[in-house]
Amino acid sequence: MTKFNTQLIHGGNSEDPTTGAVSTPIYRASTFHQRVLGGHPKWEYSRTGNPTRAALEKLMAQLEEGVAGFAFASGSAAIATVFAMYSRGDHFIVGKDVYGGTFRLINQVLKRFGMTFTIVDTRDLAAIEAAIQDNTVAIYFETPTNPLLQITDIRAVTALARRHHLRTIVDNTFATPYNQQPLTLGADVVVHSATKYLAGHSDVVAGVAVTNDPAIADQLAFLQNSLGATLGPDDSWLVQRGIKTLAARMRIHEENAAAVVDFLQGDAHVAKIYYPGLADFPGHDIAAKQMRGFGAMIAFELRAGLDTKQFVEHLHLIDLAESLGGIESLIEVPAVMTHGSIPRAVRLRDGISDELIRLSVGIEDATDIIADLKQALGQLD
Ligand SMILES: *Cc1c(COP(=O)(O)O)cnc(C)c1O
Repeated sequence: MTKFNTQLIHGGNSEDPTTGAVSTPIYRASTFHQRVLGGHPKWEYSRTGNPTRAALEKLMAQLEEGVAGFAFASGSAAIATVFAMYSRGDHFIVGKDVYGGTFRLINQVLKRFGMTFTIVDTRDLAAIEAAIQDNTVAIYFETPTNPLLQITDIRAVTALARRHHLRTIVDNTFATPYNQQPLTLGADVVVHSATKYLAGHSDVVAGVAVTNDPAIADQLAFLQNSLGATLGPDDSWLVQRGIKTLAARMRIHEENAAAVVDFLQGDAHVAKIYYPGLADFPGHDIAAKQMRGFGAMIAFELRAGLDTKQFVEHLHLIDLAESLGGIESLIEVPAVMTHGSIPRAVRLRDGISDELIRLSVGIEDATDIIADLKQALGQLD
């Protein structure tokens, strides 16, 4: 088996046996000619299976060390399809700090279908244990979380889940398999918004699910085909193209993130920094154990009395925008933007202050990212 960084480039079906093309051809066909009646050829109809999508799915299965991967029209579609494995009456334990769209799916869609949920801080194993009911079927969480970068011990949670015959589903969007492979730590299913670091260029919306359990793989193949939220061949190609440079990008992302954290630590305008790479960050030791690197997502708060709005609006290079994981640095204020739909009292209780700023550090020259932060901070005096 070749090394991870080599698989990024040569995994999946990256070479075309017909022409030798070194990049997967885009099979823009909805249906495939059948030579004999009832012969069940490999390719029949592109919702069921498409060679370009299959190359990406095989690659993702390899990178997450699973048996099968499934590509969807968005991360949200991947998550919805995974939950569609379950039925009325099933109960889930869900991490407190999950993606806002996942909360919306749970509260406004899945509950209507008779599924029930208990929201738990998954850093607290006793709290998870206390939330388990007779009808609990799975634990769902993210690590690191958005926007507070909280770290859950994947190995400890999956061990607890196994003792209670529960499945574990991990949203691995922030870490990517470059930094963390939840299936190797005991999880049953990994989901991704491939829109973020995997595709990496802020030019495509896509999602992926991977499992190492053949029975779950059969279920997901059936549901992917039945619900039909599949990723098209052009977007599948774009995601695979992005993944080829994942290691190269992540190295620069992380190098820049370390430099930015270093700068913020020395700046008097900054009151608090959230970054799992900091030795005194709660969860740092667990992150160091289960992740190869600490990623490039940072959150921070300005000193009391400083104007967050003025700061983000004075940035020139760093884009004020939602989303993350692209090559360009993106900054946002969760209270107003990504987490604006959460009631203020709940948000404050959970540690997401009005002043919290989330920064997705890009791969521009670190000097320029820091200079932009510095000039915008300087204007607050
Ligand atoms: C963006 C995101 C999602 C949703 O993915 P889409 O591709 O936008 O549908 C899910 N989980 C996390 C952690 C995300 O950041």
